[in-house]
Amino acid sequence: LKVNEIFGPTIQGEGFHAGRLCNFVRLSRCNLQCRWCDTPQTWVWTPAKAERHLSGVMYERSAEEHEMSIGEIVQKVMDCGGFQVSFCVISGGEPLLQQVDLVPLIKGLSYADVPVHIETAGTIMPSELLLDAADFFTVSPKLGSSGNVPRAAYHPEVLRVFAQSDKAGFKYVINSLADFDEVDKQVYACQIPKHMVQVMPQGTNADAIVAGMQVYAQEALLRGYGMSSRLHTLIWNDKRGV
Ligand code: SF4
Repeated sequence: LKVNEIFGPTIQGEGFHAGRLCNFVRLSRCNLQCRWCDTPQTWVWTPAKAERHLSGVMYERSAEEHEMSIGEIVQKVMDCGGFQVSFCVISGGEPLLQQVDLVPLIKGLSYADVPVHIETAGTIMPSELLLDAADFFTVSPKLGSSGNVPRAAYHPEVLRVFAQSDKAGFKYVINSLADFDEVDKQVYACQIPKHMVQVMPQGTNADAIVAGMQVYAQEALLRGYGMSSRLHTLIWNDKRGV
């Protein structure tokens, strides 16, 4: 698989399992181009893509993308305290771009008794094998304020499949109060149970996260959604590899 970084033990900072000890396998590459992406090193490899990102920074693909076998990844996870943590997060980038190889990786980690959570933007249909193999999916559909065009970012047929599974939570990154209307439309159209939905403020430092939560909490409660913080950002701001 094409890997960006493997690290841990750390704290899952977002979503329904926030606060739990885990380690991370961050896969390389993404099919979206969110202007506020907090892992731009997984895809901002050309001047054109750097222009689309708020930071304007371009990354060296050869330095950021590493080809690793499943055995090497499992070994590295174990070296990162795999036996101490309660689960391993496979994140990205967009992990489902490599979903054919994800199933044997999940099986490899399962043999080592490490449950696996997958993070995805919900644009790529998961195979039945993948749905079956992973223990949990954090689905984070990207709204118009991410800078992606709807035909790239919104795939209701995929969101419906996750919504009907019993192992997915939905996490929407919110940029402004106006984003709530788009969340409502997706939740309704894709029949996503509201108790499976969390909203989370966009932000790469602690002040922005706290301010966003204070602005959005009441709106989330009115609509019946939960709220996610970004614990790793509150603790470490935008430091990588934690
Ligand atoms: S989907 Fe995730 S990894 Fe891809 S550009 Fe958006 S925030 Fe970044």
